[in-house]
Amino acid sequence: MNATIVLHKRPVGTPVLTDFRTVTEKKPEPGVGEILLKTSYVSVDPYLRGRMNDTKSYIAPFELLQPIKSGIIAKVIESDHPDYKQGETVYGLLDWKEYQTSTGKGITRVDVEKFPPSAYLGILGMPGLTAYLGLSEIGKLTKGETLVVSGAAGAVGTVAGQIGKLMGCRVVGICGSDEKVHMLKTDFGFNEAINYKTTRNMRRAIAATCPKGVDVYFDNVGGPISEAVLAKINKFARIIICGAISLYNETSLPTGLSVQPFLLRSSALMQGFIVSDYEAKFPEAMHQLTEWFSTGKIKQAETIVRGFDQIPQAFIDLFTGKNKGKMVVQI
Ligand code: NAP
Repeated sequence: MNATIVLHKRPVGTPVLTDFRTVTEKKPEPGVGEILLKTSYVSVDPYLRGRMNDTKSYIAPFELLQPIKSGIIAKVIESDHPDYKQGETVYGLLDWKEYQTSTGKGITRVDVEKFPPSAYLGILGMPGLTAYLGLSEIGKLTKGETLVVSGAAGAVGTVAGQIGKLMGCRVVGICGSDEKVHMLKTDFGFNEAINYKTTRNMRRAIAATCPKGVDVYFDNVGGPISEAVLAKINKFARIIICGAISLYNETSLPTGLSVQPFLLRSSALMQGFIVSDYEAKFPEAMHQLTEWFSTGKIKQAETIVRGFDQIPQAFIDLFTGKNKGKMVVQI
């Protein structure tokens, strides 16, 4: 039999396990020209939360009672496809299923001899591209500048911070535990890190860790953390609006600080960023990330959870920060 995880109910607020359901069906058989894939690693990502709402966004909502889809690494276990052989490993945006067939459309072969399979879901996948392209297309860091990264200990944040260090910048991370603060400073070379859960005055903490102000802010979280950073931006600062995880489970948008005075007085640029808009730049970005990763200049942080049935919980755990680096489920 074949297990599939479907969206059972649209979450209201923070997702819970009963929003998901596992259904079993007959294991599929590949048709003419198709491959049969066995899932090995599943990426859980904060943006999937938005797809669980029935609202228009940059990507279509999931349908109720249909499988959830995310980045998946899978093994070809049968092939009637001229381009794929049994035993090869592929990446694709695939269903949360143990087994599925594919025509090969949207699938890419990955070299698991060269890099661990999970790297293709993190540093050499969508999160790595997001960090690289957000910084190169909007951040435009120059040596000696100060980069602040929120959601710093996650998949995108750990890569963004490491790139900032490679660019010769002062890098300050914002994250949700002392263990993460320690990891960012000792394992990933951040100059400073702030635990936003135990810091009473974030503005003061930003001022203390960024004595020359903030030139680039890589914003993964939005909300009050970002308001504190905005208060410290320098003339011509660049603010990359990559994510707003602190708001994803809100049922109505909270009112916050008005950003205009901060942007106006510093002539700053604040720009939304969706990685898929920069597809033309993926090869260049991947080339650079691969080079840095293979020469040890950047490292992957990851949290690997085991078991197909653990996928929904791993996803839910992103919202309480249980992950360090990329959250991946190994099947
Ligand atoms: P991630 O950072 O690996 O995981 C999410 C992290 O967010 C958690 O570990 C948690 O860490 C933090 N978090 C959860 N709730 C929070 C809250 N209320 N306030 C502050 N932090 C909170 O996830 P990721 O894949 O790297 O994604 C990071 C952000 O980038 C997300 O907002 C995501 O939607 C966005 N993103 C955007 C694009 C794009 O194209 N625009 C692409 C990829 C990702 P703590 O322990 O630090 O709280």
